[in-house]
Amino acid sequence: MTRAMNEHVKSAAPKIGLVSLGCPKALVDSERIMSTLRSQGYSFSRDYAGADIVLVNTCGFLDSAKQESLEAIGEALSENGRVIVTGCLGVEEELIRRTHPSVLAISGPHQYENVVNAVHQHLPPVPNRFLDLVPEQGLKLTPRHYAYLKISEGCNNRCSFCIIPQIRGDLASRPAAGILGEAEGLIRSGVKELLVISQDTSAYGVDIKYQTSNYRGRPVAAKFYDLAKELGDLGAWVRLHYVYPYPHVDQVIPLMAEGKVLPYLDIPFQHASPSVLKAMRRPANQVKTLDRIKAWRDICPDLTIRSNFIVGFPGETEEDFEFLLDWIEEAEIDRAGCFKYEPVTGAPANALEGIVPDDVMQDRFERLMEVAQNVSAGQLAKKVGRTIDVLVDDVDPANNRAIARSKWDAPDIDGQVIVSHAAGIKVGDLVSVTVTASDEYDLFATPVTVSAAIAPAA
Ligand code: SF4
Repeated sequence: MTRAMNEHVKSAAPKIGLVSLGCPKALVDSERIMSTLRSQGYSFSRDYAGADIVLVNTCGFLDSAKQESLEAIGEALSENGRVIVTGCLGVEEELIRRTHPSVLAISGPHQYENVVNAVHQHLPPVPNRFLDLVPEQGLKLTPRHYAYLKISEGCNNRCSFCIIPQIRGDLASRPAAGILGEAEGLIRSGVKELLVISQDTSAYGVDIKYQTSNYRGRPVAAKFYDLAKELGDLGAWVRLHYVYPYPHVDQVIPLMAEGKVLPYLDIPFQHASPSVLKAMRRPANQVKTLDRIKAWRDICPDLTIRSNFIVGFPGETEEDFEFLLDWIEEAEIDRAGCFKYEPVTGAPANALEGIVPDDVMQDRFERLMEVAQNVSAGQLAKKVGRTIDVLVDDVDPANNRAIARSKWDAPDIDGQVIVSHAAGIKVGDLVSVTVTASDEYDLFATPVTVSAAIAPAA
């Protein structure tokens, strides 16, 4: 595992060149494809020579546009040699193949999934859980109704177990206008949920001194709160990932209570014991985090907190670990993931003493997951009887079911809402349902109209 990772760390991110032709709709398609690929760890090259593969998003509206598209494909082939074609001219696959037989793949307009799959096939992503922001299982699926929105690269923190700053560099935030423009484009292309990602979302803008940029004729500051508010005004679900509990995070909780931003915070706490957090050199490591969480829940009782924890960090004692278990219960961490500590080559934590034996680490892993499961089950049970909106990810017509997510569930990492009596419900629909039951991770529900129809007569 460690060896495989080192090999990846040494290799640069796969690079894509993009030639975008045609109308604003085609540009939105290009932005959508770029956002998806960027969130999956690909980077982009401004020239043919620096690209591992070139995407040509074509136009086929007029004969002259077709000709221009064919010429652009020819140029990309002669300059780079590895070309994927998409866009309006893609519907004329035969014409493209006749003119340029060596193109790697062809798809038509708005076929994001096909384009992304073609890129995966010819230039595979290199999943790595130490570096990736998007879950590996999410790479296979790029549905239309949600999208990852990356707001910055790199990180200014120096957690002792992490090599991301060495690989990706210091925090480099994108201007707010660029992010908002991309978000608007994604929503125009059918996205209903934006998943805001970065290495440290709450540090957004620190590096560029919160500089303003012009969005729709007015200045918007590159600030965590300002960006969250502006995104919330676009009308899609906005979910915040990789947030640290800095004091200014308090400001977004009212936006969650108002329904502008989903009442969901993904905060990778990693631990709770002060001595372990200190050894980890975690940001926003404050003794009063529990009080902050309670205050957040007073303002927004619906708030769900997802977190990750590392067990078996060097020097973690049984006392530290029990402190963590109690903390997870008291903080009512709704969704918890757990990793057993792994020494990543190049990470300062490798030099720490107090290696935790594998069997102890495994035991702690299982105990943490048991506590997390109990907390999750208790939190979910409180939702039974409520009417909530869910976003449909998949349908199962054979069983008359839909697989959906509530505002408390991020794709691929959290639970699901299993909706019965789901005839007519489609992927990407936002549906109002009544929660009828819960288990450790999932909710079970029926559509509101069905709930009313099947309710026993008074
Ligand atoms: S916050 Fe810490 S763990 Fe996260 S990317 Fe930065 S250095 Fe790594």
